[in-house]
Amino acid sequence: MNGPIIILAAAALAAFGARWVLKRRRRAKLLAAPLANAHRRILSARMPLYRKLPADLRARLDGLINRFLDEVTFHGLEGVEMSDDIRVTIAAQASMLIVNKPNRWFNALRTIHVYPAAFKSRLTKINGHVHSERDETRSGESWAKGPVILAWDHAAYGAFIPHDGRNVVMHEFAHQLDEQTGVTDGSPLLDADHSASQWARVFRDAYERLRRDAARRQPHVLDAYGATNPAEFFAVATEVFFEQPHALRAQEAALYGELAQYYRLDPAAWG
Ligand SMILES: [Zn+2]
Repeated sequence: MNGPIIILAAAALAAFGARWVLKRRRRAKLLAAPLANAHRRILSARMPLYRKLPADLRARLDGLINRFLDEVTFHGLEGVEMSDDIRVTIAAQASMLIVNKPNRWFNALRTIHVYPAAFKSRLTKINGHVHSERDETRSGESWAKGPVILAWDHAAYGAFIPHDGRNVVMHEFAHQLDEQTGVTDGSPLLDADHSASQWARVFRDAYERLRRDAARRQPHVLDAYGATNPAEFFAVATEVFFEQPHALRAQEAALYGELAQYYRLDPAAWG
């Protein structure tokens, strides 16, 4: 390598390093900052869970919402005019999943597309060389290494009604976490102190119980949609973990314990 090339390479490396440092500093500042008053007012009106959170978790959630709004792009579709109301309500629910997991982020996520209401899925499935268009009505979608797509009316309802066990934003973002292993199979990345064999055993047993109850049309704390496959089971269990923690703990204590360890949270203690 000759002199000028070495100098150019060093300059490029220095510029990259400086950008990286600035980005880290900006992120740290956002994470430490309280939520803007206008954003706090949105959550006070739209998300009862926000008010119920212990103060230390609410402070962390504020920081995560700040980062989320800074790093994720929101696009309105079919007439949705993007607003802080929509952005903050979605960012807060998504950030709940990682509120006590300081090293976890939705790494693949750059964009959220928001429809006004349930939408026709335009997901293209590749089966061998055949691309088949699915034509289903959905309230949300999570694409591996890609965007999350949400129906705003369902996302708003999920924030406002905290105890019905349904939350489309938490559902789709549970898929985002699950996808971080490279395979969406209901086995997200576990912390080093979390036993993978115990997680697998507890989830398999609880999944089989739900499948059995769903087949017999027996009532179960988890929606029968969770019996579709292990990935949907994890997403549905996440919704109920946050929205009906007492019922989940009463009916599926071991599953509640695994989710409490995974999310490092105990929603049943939030009053
Ligand atoms: Zn799903």
